[in-house]
Amino acid sequence: MDQVSPWRLVTVHAHPDDEASKGAATIARYAAEGVTCVLVTATGGEEGSLLNPALTDVRPEQLARRRRSELDAAARRAGFAEVVRLGFRDSGMPGSPAGRHPRAFSRVPLLEAARGIVATIRRVRPHVVISYPDDQSSYPHPDHLRVFDATRLALELAADPAALREFGEPWRVPRWAWSLWVSERFERLAEALRAKGVALPWRPERRGQDELVRARVDVRGFVSVAQEVLRAHETQVDPGSGWWFGLDATELEELWPFEDYHVVGAEPGVVLDGLFAGLRAED
Ligand SMILES: [Zn+2]
Repeated sequence: MDQVSPWRLVTVHAHPDDEASKGAATIARYAAEGVTCVLVTATGGEEGSLLNPALTDVRPEQLARRRRSELDAAARRAGFAEVVRLGFRDSGMPGSPAGRHPRAFSRVPLLEAARGIVATIRRVRPHVVISYPDDQSSYPHPDHLRVFDATRLALELAADPAALREFGEPWRVPRWAWSLWVSERFERLAEALRAKGVALPWRPERRGQDELVRARVDVRGFVSVAQEVLRAHETQVDPGSGWWFGLDATELEELWPFEDYHVVGAEPGVVLDGLFAGLRAED
């Protein structure tokens, strides 16, 4: 069912495939409700490896171009109306030589990193912006840390009438959300995977960011879409991986039918039903 909606959402990610592993079911749900969803991807994922053992013909120099078309296919499947590529280079893991490249996202001046996000916010005028959380100690990839810092600056500048006038009228984004995982989701998933004999890719004692949760999106009916979004990144996922695909969408939705978010400035102790609660009349 296609509905026309005046509601808009922008999500900022570091690499192609991050939009698949973080919040794809949320996007699928809101896109199905008619929300205009725009994806901002900072880098081309140039430092990714070929992780699909079935694709033996892909040469390393072809990877960046492959990842570009994979991102287009994934974004279409998720329901994004548009993909904005900031055009920076993947910084690689901490300490990698890629981090010293002059166009590495984590190395360019912060204002330069934020400019394209400001331009997108002023043009799209989103009601919700999603980024990663301030504390990313469980996965401190330099480009992911930069997504947080650049988004924070972009939200300030987008609202400031005196800043970056070349990008048009100021826009104050009413809601900034951070995508999170809660401990119970880790625990339930770990238990279900263990029962199938699948080795966990994280330490069993890994904790979530439960204390930060302020909104929960019910994604029942959309987890299968999220799995297809992930499969669209065919160089980056092993279709035989038990961790990624050992549980089907029905099993995953039974385990944890939500995606969890922090909402900056929201009252502690209250968990909103969805990212548009209190903004849209129907929520
Ligand atoms: Zn990433």
